[in-house]
Amino acid sequence: MFKVKFADIGEGLTEGKVAEVLVKLGQEIKEGDALFFVETDKVNSEIPAPVGGKIAKVLISEGQEIKVGDVVIEIDDGSATVEAAPAAEEENASVVGSTPVSNDLIPSRGPAPTQNVAAQPTPTPVATKHTDIEESFDVIVVGAGIGGYVSAIKTAQLGLKTLIIEKQYYGGVCLNVGCIPTKSLLRTAKVFEDIVHKAANLGIDMKTKDEPSINWNKALERKDGVVNKLTGGVKVLLTKNGVKQIIGEASALDKNTISVNGKKYHCDNLIIASGSVPNELPLPGFAEGRESGFLIDSTKILSLPKIPKTLTVIGGGVIGIEFGCLFAALGTKVTVIEGAPKILPMLDQDVTALMTKTLKEKYKIEIFTNAKVKEVKGKSVVFEIDGKEQTVKSDYCLESIGRKTVTKGFDGIGLELSERKSIIANDYGETNLEGVYAIGDVTSKIMLAHVASHAGIVTANRIALKANKPEAHDIKMDYSKIPSCIYSHPEIAMIGKTEQQLKEEGIEYKTFKFPFAAIGKALADDDTTGFVKIICEPKYKTLLGAHIIGNRATDMISEFTTLIECEGTITELARAIHPHPTMSEAIGEAAEALESGKSLNL
Ligand SMILES: Cc1cc2nc3c(=O)[nH]c(=O)nc-3n(C[C@H](O)[C@H](O)[C@H](O)COP(=O)(O)OP(=O)(O)OC[C@H]3O[C@@H](n4cnc5c(N)ncnc54)[C@H](O)[C@@H]3O)c2cc1C
Repeated sequence: MFKVKFADIGEGLTEGKVAEVLVKLGQEIKEGDALFFVETDKVNSEIPAPVGGKIAKVLISEGQEIKVGDVVIEIDDGSATVEAAPAAEEENASVVGSTPVSNDLIPSRGPAPTQNVAAQPTPTPVATKHTDIEESFDVIVVGAGIGGYVSAIKTAQLGLKTLIIEKQYYGGVCLNVGCIPTKSLLRTAKVFEDIVHKAANLGIDMKTKDEPSINWNKALERKDGVVNKLTGGVKVLLTKNGVKQIIGEASALDKNTISVNGKKYHCDNLIIASGSVPNELPLPGFAEGRESGFLIDSTKILSLPKIPKTLTVIGGGVIGIEFGCLFAALGTKVTVIEGAPKILPMLDQDVTALMTKTLKEKYKIEIFTNAKVKEVKGKSVVFEIDGKEQTVKSDYCLESIGRKTVTKGFDGIGLELSERKSIIANDYGETNLEGVYAIGDVTSKIMLAHVASHAGIVTANRIALKANKPEAHDIKMDYSKIPSCIYSHPEIAMIGKTEQQLKEEGIEYKTFKFPFAAIGKALADDDTTGFVKIICEPKYKTLLGAHIIGNRATDMISEFTTLIECEGTITELARAIHPHPTMSEAIGEAAEALESGKSLNL
């Protein structure tokens, strides 16, 4: 008998809600058949059977909350009782789409990662006394991504002797192959789109009859120029602040001894900021697809030799949708394949609905949901919806199914890792090892650049405080106050909870949605798509959630972040004077409607 346990399905999730049970008692199933559908606050995912056999017990029902490690289904596979399914072929399997997931039971791992707990005693190994130490530092930071370089600058500014070690590129993923290059290319796409679709309406006539066209090489060159400027700036800042830098791959011999380029360095404190890399699906034909260049990841897509005519995107999450939008605006026929019942499932449903409509109607993007990807055959992706096999052929396929942490070089020092191989750290970045800290993507909490950089500041202060540095502050991470942005067209930004989460949690709320169509600046800009939706607690009017879709959404969300940080209420938001004409007037309008019960301009 095989006892299937609910596994860690990524993003640091520990529980979920059963949306649908897909098997019945006595049913014969094959390995990989879907057992049930689970919803979490971040993703929805279909959970496949780890073995084939007959369903002997169904221990879950629709709507039931389940925790990682709960036995959910028993499958009679003819074997003796087994406690948990074997680990998936791929470590850190992701959650988006129908990605197979690790079915291992997460071992009991002490305090939850976000709790503020004192560091646990070091189990292994005991630090050895090294005699051949090149130099000693108060702090060594591994990884010069946005988490690492910000923490290194801060520790140096707080008076700690700091070394940073980077193996590949200053600025890490964000500056080199993430936030910045994508936004540079999205800007090209937006200007192109405006010329094609908006110029005439704005009274701009083209002098020639030629259609505008994209000079892709020039766009890539501009993108590279922006990247180089920023990454060069990181090096300058580190140097200016007195941070010693070494280029090379670091590994920890013990928690106080770091080896790089054949030399050893001592540190009193180690900050691991080694980040993440794209996940890969372990499905038939995928290895060959990657080798042939058909299957590409979020890094490779940033330097395609030309704009593809057709592109398939596996995974309708943030990265998949940003790239889908980008290429669709440049004229590519884009198809998105998503395993969950909708794309961008973590967003408020009003936002997802408008985004889905825009992608389909404006960008002509074909979206398949509830789709289970099966294999890659040549230049085609084979997937199944409701048991029916379908195929989509394209020039390229973007595999955008989440990211996995990089912990190589730190395996042997006794660090406590989650089942996804994320380093477990509390709200100060402290791990189970005294003096060892982890920040950013490698902790898998929320994989965003501003989370990594803020965690860097928090951890630097923590270390400096322990070292009695007078300028250090006692600050910590609060993962409930993190804004998230999507740079699609229209843009999306959110903070706090969605209306659906509040309903599920039985929390009382009031909400108001103010459309940009009623905002003068939106009309003047000829860009009226979207709205500001505010959700607040009815009695004290504290903010529970803010959701914006539309032009400049990503800039506007900061007003809400500041409101939460200052413990302000909707009353203050309504009283704050919003300049006219701006898109932010929609925030004032929605707040006023919640405050007084009436809208002034609707
Ligand atoms: C396509 C894409 C778009 C994105 N867009 C956004 C966005 O718009 N907004 C946003 O907030 N986030 C975005 N992100 C996420 C963001 O890039 C990451 O959250 C952020 O880069 C994490 O920073 P980090 O410092 O934790 O890790 P990383 O940026 O991954 O940096 C880790 C660094 O450590 C180095 N390293 C690893 N191991 C070692 C070792 N042993 N020795 C030496 N060096 C080592 C690596 O080379 C790397 O430079 C995007 C990501 C992608 C892929």
